[in-house]
Amino acid sequence: MSGVDALTVLGSTGSIGSSTLDVLSRHSDRFRVFALTANTQVALLAQQCARFEPRFAVVMTDKAAQTLRALLAERKVATEVLCGLQSLIEVASAVEANTVVAAIVGAAGLEPTMAAVGAGKKVLLANKEALVMGGRLFTSAVKASGAVLLPVDSEHNAIFQCLPSGFTCLQACGVRKILLTGSGGPFRETDRAALTAVTPAQAVAHPNWSMGRKISVDSATMMNKGLEFIEACWLFDAAPKDIEVVVHPQSIIHSMVEYLDGSIVAQMGRPDMRTPIAHCLAWPQRINAAVEPLDLFALRGLDFYPPDFGRFPCLKMAMQAMSEGGSYPVALNAANEIAVDAFLDETIGYLQIAEVLASVMDVWRGGEPESLLAVKEADFEARLAAESEIDRLRR
Ligand code: NAD
Ligand code: MG
Repeated sequence: MSGVDALTVLGSTGSIGSSTLDVLSRHSDRFRVFALTANTQVALLAQQCARFEPRFAVVMTDKAAQTLRALLAERKVATEVLCGLQSLIEVASAVEANTVVAAIVGAAGLEPTMAAVGAGKKVLLANKEALVMGGRLFTSAVKASGAVLLPVDSEHNAIFQCLPSGFTCLQACGVRKILLTGSGGPFRETDRAALTAVTPAQAVAHPNWSMGRKISVDSATMMNKGLEFIEACWLFDAAPKDIEVVVHPQSIIHSMVEYLDGSIVAQMGRPDMRTPIAHCLAWPQRINAAVEPLDLFALRGLDFYPPDFGRFPCLKMAMQAMSEGGSYPVALNAANEIAVDAFLDETIGYLQIAEVLASVMDVWRGGEPESLLAVKEADFEARLAAESEIDRLRR
C-alpha cells in the first residue's frame, strides 16, 4: 500500500459505521477520515467528529445540522457541517476521498452509493439494498468507472475470500455453486402460532449478531437472506440456480464456495463485522481487526439445514423476484422497508410483513429500469402499494 487512504463513511453512526470507525481507530497510520454522515444522530456524530476530525460531516435535516454545529463549536472541532442528499452525494464522490464505506440503511443509500461508484471509488458495500435496487445499472456503472467494489456483508465477504484472486466468472473458476449461509434468526424453530404475537423487541434480538433494527427484523423473517441472495447474484455475476441457501445456526461459517472437483472452501470466524470490514479496508493486505480468534476447541458442532420456505416466505419471494428480474427486486425491497417500519412502530404484526410483500408482488409488473429515475419511480410506486395494503389490514 502506498500513502494514506482517505475515507468517507456514509452512515457512520450506525452499527456498521461504528464498527468501521473502531477498526480505523486502530490504524491511524493507514487511514484518515474525510467525511462522516448520519441521518439525525447528532450527539454520536459530534463525538465521532471530535475523535476523527473529518473535513465534513453531513446530516439530513436543518435542525440536526444546527445542533451539530453548536455541539462542534462547544468542542472546538473544525469539521464543516453540511446538510441533505446533495451533500451526501458530494462527499461520496469528492476527489479528496478515495474510499467510501456505504453503510446507510435502506434505499436512502442508493444515490450516494451510486455517486461513489460513478466517481470510480473503492466502495466498501454494506448497504445491500442499494445493489438490490440498482442491479444491472449498479454493476454496469462499476465496470464503466473502474470502481473497486468490495463486499462488507459477511456472507459476500466470505464468498469473495473463498473465490480465487482475479475472479472473473463462476464457470471460468470451476465453481459448481455458491453456498450462502444464514443463521435462520431468532424464530428458526418457533411455532407459527407463536409468531402471531412476536414483538419488535423479540424480532430484533438476534441470537448471534448485533445489528441495526431494520436488518435485525430482516434476519428474523429471512428477508435479509433473500436480499443477500439477490446481492450475491449481482456481485458474483451468478444466476439464481448457482446459489443455494444453507441454514447454519451457529454463524461460524460465513458462506462457502463449492468447486467442480468436489472441494468446498469455507470462510470461518466469530460473528463480528469488524472482520469483513477490516478485510475490505486493507484488501488485498490483512490488518488486525481487534477480533478475538475463534476458539475451535470451544465449538460444539456446526449444523446445516435446508431453508424452510413455508416458515420463511420472504426468502422465497426474494428468490422469485430475482428470477423475474426487471424491477421486481426494487418493488420487493421497497415494500419490505415500508412493512418493516410498520412492524417496528407496531402498526402491523410480524406475520403481516410477509402478507404486505405478497400483496405487492402478486400484482407487480415491471421491466428492466433503464435509469436511476426509473428505479426511484418503481421504488415509490411499490411503497404506495405497500402503504395501501397496510391501511387495508388495519381496517
Ligand atoms: P443502522 O440502522 O445501525 O445504521 C444506519 C446508518 O444510516 C446510520 O448512520 C443512520 O444515521 C444512517 N441513515 C439512516 N437513514 C438515513 C437516511 N434516510 N439518510 C441518510 N442516512 C441515513 O444500520 P446497520 O445495521 O449499520 O446497517 C447498515 C447497512 O449495512 C444496511 O444496509 C444493512 O443491511 C447492512 N449490513 C449490516 C450489517 C450489521 O451487522 N449491522 C451486516 C451486514 C450488512
Ligand atoms: Mg449478511
